Amino acid sequence: MTAFENPALAAFVAQLGEKLVFAQVLIRRAGTGFTLRHIGDTDVSGETLRAVTIEALHAFAQTTEAGAFRPLKSAPNLPRGWHTHAANSVELGTALDRLYPGAVADWFASRMAQPPVTNYREFTSRQTGMYRVTTFPDDRRAEQITRACCDPRFCLKCRLWIVPGLAPDTQNNKSLIPCLEPCALLLEFARKVVRLEQQGNLPDSISSEDTRGMQEKLDQPTSSGREADFESPENPRRIALLLQLPGRD
Ligand code: SF4
Repeated sequence: MTAFENPALAAFVAQLGEKLVFAQVLIRRAGTGFTLRHIGDTDVSGETLRAVTIEALHAFAQTTEAGAFRPLKSAPNLPRGWHTHAANSVELGTALDRLYPGAVADWFASRMAQPPVTNYREFTSRQTGMYRVTTFPDDRRAEQITRACCDPRFCLKCRLWIVPGLAPDTQNNKSLIPCLEPCALLLEFARKVVRLEQQGNLPDSISSEDTRGMQEKLDQPTSSGREADFESPENPRRIALLLQLPGRD
């Protein structure tokens, strides 16, 4: 198989130039191939970086530097300190797919005349089983859920799907990787918010003191919390949702 049998990869490579930042990965041309490294290691000598093979990238991207599982590969917590060589376009596509599954295909789809972009209502109306309840939030709550879950602090995908009251993301504060439909993490977060509301555990408003405390937690996150543990009141997305509630003093 040659690189140019994949139209998405061919288009991606054609617009790559000498280098390109793809979420947290810096891609640079190197002869007929490419090198990849964390954007935070742009000026670091390659000799001090660990060489990671393309085959090993999938396992490598599973955890943060602190060893925590990364349920969302587009979260801005890809470990630093590595570099990978891709000998050609096909290998580049494989490497990117291991770091950011489906991202090149989604990037290509987002450039179509009519990108396959959905919206919160359409997407949640197709859910079955335990995720049926994700249709319950009204527009204001759906906006809060989306704002909290897709915050650039938690996800670098550029949200193109629509929710009432919230403009789509821009590449300026996100990345080239588009998000065409709500992900599994957002669905689970929406389900949890509905459950909290049903149990009477979601307040209507928060005090200014609570606001200060929660803002501090968001600004100084610890590495101990699990990203997808929405049971925890310390979960950053839960905090980000509460911070959108009206103040009560
Ligand atoms: S739905 Fe939101 S959190 Fe999930 S991948 Fe898309 S932008 Fe990121």
